[in-house]
Amino acid sequence: MLNLVLFGPPGAGKGTQSANIISKYGLIHIATGDLLRSEISAGTDLGIKAATLMKEGLLVPDEVVIGMINSKFAENKDAKGFVFDGFPRTVEQAKALDTLLEANGVPISGVIALEVSETILIERILERGKTSGRPDDQEKSLVEKRVVEYRSKTEPVANYYDKQGKLARLNGIGDIDEIFDSIAASINSFA
Ligand code: AMP
Repeated sequence: MLNLVLFGPPGAGKGTQSANIISKYGLIHIATGDLLRSEISAGTDLGIKAATLMKEGLLVPDEVVIGMINSKFAENKDAKGFVFDGFPRTVEQAKALDTLLEANGVPISGVIALEVSETILIERILERGKTSGRPDDQEKSLVEKRVVEYRSKTEPVANYYDKQGKLARLNGIGDIDEIFDSIAASINSFA
């Protein structure tokens, strides 16, 4: 299995590059933000609770997203591998992912961190907000809050993987195809 984590702040291009990765490598895409938005659309209890936090730019509790990941993994055990996008967002989540994958003998192959300056992130998300329909993409103060949440809770996850020798930091600014070329080069070095 090729198991990749696509890591980075909101607006780093994780969604765009995940689409490129899954089409080139035939992997399953697991994006916790998308899974949560499906729960919201379906009006489930989980969705109703998550919506309040998401609208405030805050992370939903670890046990909620870890539960979603466990079931997605169980549904796709025959997959060639996975791209985890927007997960893990805390060190607790990273540990839970390691536990799940190691129990199945299919550890993380590598982690690609897309690096983008804060000013560009905020511009990109507000631009995306014009068409994404996402309430959390619309307001500058809310977008800034998501970035703050990222810096305090999610950025330490990069260190967690760096200590395992699994982290590749890549420039996430510029031409989408060129960024993808550097991602593919990293993936080939993990495989
Ligand atoms: P995203 O689509 O990845 O930008 O996620 C949108 C929102 O969903 C985030 O701002 C969080 O509120 C929530 N969310 C998505 N993934 C996670 C996660 N792994 N842990 C906690 N909250 C998450």
